[in-house]
Amino acid sequence: MAKQIQAVRGMNDCLPGTTQIWQKVEETLRKTVASYGYQEIRFPIVESTDLFKRSIGEVTDIVEKEMYTFDDRSGDSLTLRPEGTAVCVRAGNENGLLYNQEQRLWYMGPMFRHERPQKGRYRQFHQFGVETFGIASADIDAEVILMTARLWKEFGISQYVRLELNSLGSNEARAQYRDALVAFLEQHVEQLDEDSKRRMHSNPLRVLDSKNPEVQALLVDAPKLSEHLDDESKAHFANLCERLDAAGVEYQVNEKLVRGLDYYNRTVFEWVTESLGAQGTVCAGGRYDGLVEQLGGKATPAVGFAMGLERLVLMLQELECVGQIRRSADVYVAAMGDKASIQAPVIAEQLRTDVSGLRVMVHAGGGNFKKQLKRADKSDALVALILGEDELAEGKVTVKYLREQKEQITVSLAEVTTLLQALTE
Ligand code: ATP
Ligand code: MG
Repeated sequence: MAKQIQAVRGMNDCLPGTTQIWQKVEETLRKTVASYGYQEIRFPIVESTDLFKRSIGEVTDIVEKEMYTFDDRSGDSLTLRPEGTAVCVRAGNENGLLYNQEQRLWYMGPMFRHERPQKGRYRQFHQFGVETFGIASADIDAEVILMTARLWKEFGISQYVRLELNSLGSNEARAQYRDALVAFLEQHVEQLDEDSKRRMHSNPLRVLDSKNPEVQALLVDAPKLSEHLDDESKAHFANLCERLDAAGVEYQVNEKLVRGLDYYNRTVFEWVTESLGAQGTVCAGGRYDGLVEQLGGKATPAVGFAMGLERLVLMLQELECVGQIRRSADVYVAAMGDKASIQAPVIAEQLRTDVSGLRVMVHAGGGNFKKQLKRADKSDALVALILGEDELAEGKVTVKYLREQKEQITVSLAEVTTLLQALTE
């Protein structure tokens, strides 16, 4: 036998059964964001490497070690998108969507990062993201957070996620804080682990993210970001909190929440869960007022978030919040004899026309009555329609109930339509 080729590590197939859950999730996401007036944007999976280097930041995990970067046949350096925000801004700039306008956009699709695969962390994964442009005030920050809170409600997982919130202030305030933090870390450098030492100069705010308890203990006495916030950012944050309070969205201010990407300023937030073990962040976002200009557009304020769909689906499965999944077939059509087998798909077409949304599976591959009924049983269908030579001659079909103790009946095609209509209601 020929050797089988395997999927690339960290890149998963999604099989029937699970695809149904994904479809439901995607439908809920689409419907919910539409109820806020957001519109979909689609952009390529492959972009110039420079786009990510310039936006995400050279000294971030993504750019340092996670990108799938390669030279194409023309020698251009391309990268499989590791995230959507930079691409959305590139597309918005290029197509003139951002300057002097307001946009409320969403996207969904695969992202690629070369990470160590584990539960909730893959090399190809999927994000659903929202990006808004042109609005600087905290009302829009509150809106996107409210939207995420509604999504958890729709999915039935509100009690399993909690919101963490912080403000990074203006770029100037953050730079000031950075200096104060570095000065502090330098005084205690012997207590830092290797990771923190490396980050101390390249990306010191990330030291606050450290999972090492000793580093965390040291940070208790570190200067606080909140002590360095500029007045405008303070007022912006207070306004956001007031709006969340008014809407009844609970949150915890986490001063150590800084997010891994360079482009954030002011609001940053994460929705975290204890239900997934180590990969606890299901949704993360924030404000990035500088990015549009940084990528060559006119200065435009922006705020958005991205949600990891694998983590969301895992949560729904583990918490048994998947809900009712629709049957793949309502009706299975079996045919006895050559003539009936030719007519069966014709009748099935008519049924699909007459009964909106009806899922009709027609037997294929021949075989006797027993075999066909076995297939009908194995399918999801509630009823089998049996078409034999006698039925065909009289314009009738036999209805056999597959999941209920009910006598089978032979009825006209018109009657079967009514009967099936009731089935789909
Ligand atoms: P983490 O700290 O878990 O690495 P991150 O800060 O790198 O997350 P973001 O870039 O903010 O993640 O992406 C937003 C969301 O996308 C994350 O909160 C998570 O739900 C999801 N996500 C990120 N990387 C992966 C991955 N490799 N596999 C699956 N989901 C991911
Ligand atoms: Mg990461």
